[in-house]
Amino acid sequence: MNFIKYCKNCVIPETRPNTEIGSDGICTACKYYLNRQVTDWDLRKKELMKIVNRYKHKNNNYYDCIVPSSGGKDSTYQVLKVKELGLNPLVVTITTDMLTPIGRKNIENLKNKGVDYIEYTLNPLVRKKINKFTLETVGDLTWSEEVGVSCSVVRLAMKMDIKLIIWGENSENENGGPEKNSDFFEEIIQRHDGDWFEEFGGTNGLRSSDLLSLWSDEGINELDLLPYTFPSREEFRKKEILGIFLGHYIPWDGHLNAEFSKKNGLTTYGKWVEGNIVDYENLDNYQMRVHDYFKFLKYGYDRVSDWASLAIRRNRMSRSEAVELSRNYGGKYPKEYLGMPLREVLDYIGMNETEFKKICEKFTNKKIFKKNSDGSLLYDNQGNLIKNNYDNIEK
Ligand SMILES: [Zn+2]
Repeated sequence: MNFIKYCKNCVIPETRPNTEIGSDGICTACKYYLNRQVTDWDLRKKELMKIVNRYKHKNNNYYDCIVPSSGGKDSTYQVLKVKELGLNPLVVTITTDMLTPIGRKNIENLKNKGVDYIEYTLNPLVRKKINKFTLETVGDLTWSEEVGVSCSVVRLAMKMDIKLIIWGENSENENGGPEKNSDFFEEIIQRHDGDWFEEFGGTNGLRSSDLLSLWSDEGINELDLLPYTFPSREEFRKKEILGIFLGHYIPWDGHLNAEFSKKNGLTTYGKWVEGNIVDYENLDNYQMRVHDYFKFLKYGYDRVSDWASLAIRRNRMSRSEAVELSRNYGGKYPKEYLGMPLREVLDYIGMNETEFKKICEKFTNKKIFKKNSDGSLLYDNQGNLIKNNYDNIEK
C-alpha cells in the first residue's frame, strides 16, 4: 500500500503539483507563509505606491489599470482597494461558462461600487468544444476559463493601451509553488516563454496552438483561439505592460477579503459550498466542482485541504480539526454544485455521466486510492473514492 506524505503543519500532501515537503516535514506553502511574517510590508507598500504614482493619469483622463475580476470575494476587495489607492480601474470580467445567479448578483454589486466594467464573453460554442476536449484529454473542465482570463485580459490591455494590470493573489505563492514565481512581472515573461504558463497557468501542458492544428478542418480558426493564446514576446515587450499581484504588496487573506466584501454587498451561498468548508468561494460557475474533483483524482487534495491549510497557517483552525474536515467533506464525487446536479453541468458540454465516470477513472492516480483485490478502484456506497491513508494522517 502506498502512503502519501502530508505537511506536518497543514494538510497539504506531497502529491500537490509544485509542492515540496522539506526534511523538516513542512511544505513550501507553509514556508512562504512564514516568510510573510518577516516581510517588510511597509517597504512593499512604498513599492506599490511608486507603481501607483507612475501609472496614475494625473488629469484623470484615462483608465490607469485593468483589474481582472470575477465579482467574487477577492475581486470585490481588489477593486475597492485599487480605488482606495487612487487609481481609476477598468474592471474586466471574462464571463464564466455557466454563470450562477449569485455570480451575476456579485458582478452587479461590484459595478455599483462605481467603476467602468467590461463583461467580455468568449464565444460559448468554441468554449464548449474546448471544455469537452480538455476534460477528456487533460482532465480539466475549466482550462478555457483559466487560460482565457490570462490571455484575454492581457490582449485587452494591449488593445486599449492600458499599461498596468492588477491581479489579486499569486495562487502559487499562497499554495506553495516555486518561490521564483512570486512576482507577476517575472512570471509573465516566463509565461510567455511557456514555463510558468504551462506549469502553473492552468494549461496542463496544453497550448491553444495544439487545438488549432487539431481543429483546423472543423472550421476553428486562429481568431476563435486568439483569446486563449498569449501575445508574442515582441508584441508584449512593445507595449510595456506591467502586471502585478496585489497580494505581493499587501498581506493577502482570502477569509478577511470575504469578510470585507460581505460588508460591501457580496452575496454568499449561506451555507458551505459543496466540496468546500466556506460559503464564499467559487460562487460564479457551476463547473467549478468538477474542476476541483479532478485535482482530487490526480493529486489527492481538494478545496477542503486548501482552505483548512490556509486556516491552520493563520491560527484559525487546529490541524486535527483540519484532518477531520478533510476526511468528512473532502474529495466527494461531485453530485451537485451550488444546487445544480452534475447531469446538467455535463449536459452543457454534451456528455453523459457514464462517459464522465470513465474519464474520472482515466485520470485517477491509482496509487492514492484504495483498490479491490482485482486492482479496480474501490468506491464507498455513496460512490466516493477512499484515500489509502485517510486513517493514517497524523493529527
Ligand atoms: Zn504545510
